[in-house]
Amino acid sequence: MKITEIPCEGYEKVVRCDDPETGLKALISVHDTTLGPALGGMRMWPYLSDHEAFTDVNRLSAGMTYKSAVAETGLGGGKCVILGNPKTDKSEALFHAMGRFVEALDGLYTTAEDVGTTVDDMVSVRRETTHVTGLPREMNSSGDPSPYTAIGTYLGIKACAERASFAALEGVRVAIQGAGNVARFLCGHLAEAGAKIIITDIVPEKVQLMIDKYGAEGVAPEAIYDVDCDVFAPCALGAVINDDTVPRLRCKIVAGAANNVLLTEEHGDRLRERGILYAPDFVINAGGIINVSVELEPDGYNEARAREKVNNIYNAVRDILETADTEGIAANRAAILLAERKLEEGRKAKA
Ligand code: NAD
Repeated sequence: MKITEIPCEGYEKVVRCDDPETGLKALISVHDTTLGPALGGMRMWPYLSDHEAFTDVNRLSAGMTYKSAVAETGLGGGKCVILGNPKTDKSEALFHAMGRFVEALDGLYTTAEDVGTTVDDMVSVRRETTHVTGLPREMNSSGDPSPYTAIGTYLGIKACAERASFAALEGVRVAIQGAGNVARFLCGHLAEAGAKIIITDIVPEKVQLMIDKYGAEGVAPEAIYDVDCDVFAPCALGAVINDDTVPRLRCKIVAGAANNVLLTEEHGDRLRERGILYAPDFVINAGGIINVSVELEPDGYNEARAREKVNNIYNAVRDILETADTEGIAANRAAILLAERKLEEGRKAKA
């Protein structure tokens, strides 16, 4: 087991984790702990290069700092990525080894499930470290965060729709990219509200499930950007709003659960120029981290309290859209300014 620190400007600690015995290669990035210990998920993905994984883990960990700052979870931002294919490279030994690396950081970073990992994988991590959240409810933990992320995303979509003058979500056309953990719960809330769902995934069986369950319309993965809809909801991976996709979008709102939706902050400006409302990713998708943060409160996890805090995402998205309009800036920029202000307050309070 070898842990190597990688100097990285603007980040408190970035380490590379190598365990030749299990073949584990991973990166842990701790961005900022001004407001509390860093918390963020453990992603497993077949990155094409070490550089790609390094860029991703750092983007994601900075996003977690902002997400927790705006949601006032009392946590900082961190993330972990395992370089590997979640379909073929998983083993219990690999997650035990990952647990030992998390433990070696001595509480600076706390982990949870993310894309490519599951609650069961976190149970394996737990054997080696206590710095892991989102374990099964039977273990006095907060369980799968995805349903909470989905509720928050649904409420954020509702806030955007109202801002765009839709009286209700009934009949509103929502094009969802990805039919994974968050998206399938999101589909349930949207269907209940009478929205029309158009959905895609690179795994056709997942799309078929949503067609059968909610009467969704399935489209090919590349076609999702061209769908004539009211809301485009990215719920797969990041950087999907870019030079190629902005001109193609035929929606009034972009609001989904994915992290790092915009390739760059300028793409938020491009959406604004096109008159498309954007719900900043780290504001609308904070439901999971909010749920997990309740687990770390002195009284332990309380479902009703978690739900009450997640419900506040509606107000958070509504307020950011309003501020952005008043200031004449893109909503992603308004959200960053808000997060930076909260971090600055935290730094002053600590000084
Ligand atoms: P998931 O892995 O269960 O779902 C992602 C889905 O996207 C998968 O079904 C995958 O096949 C599909 N996909 C991948 N590439 C695609 C493409 N090019 N086109 C269409 N579909 C594609 O993950 P999840 O937990 O549902 O998370 C979804 C997104 O939300 C991620 O960006 C994640 O970081 C973010 N997020 C999740 C949570 C949470 O609580 N799970 C919290 C905050 C943010």
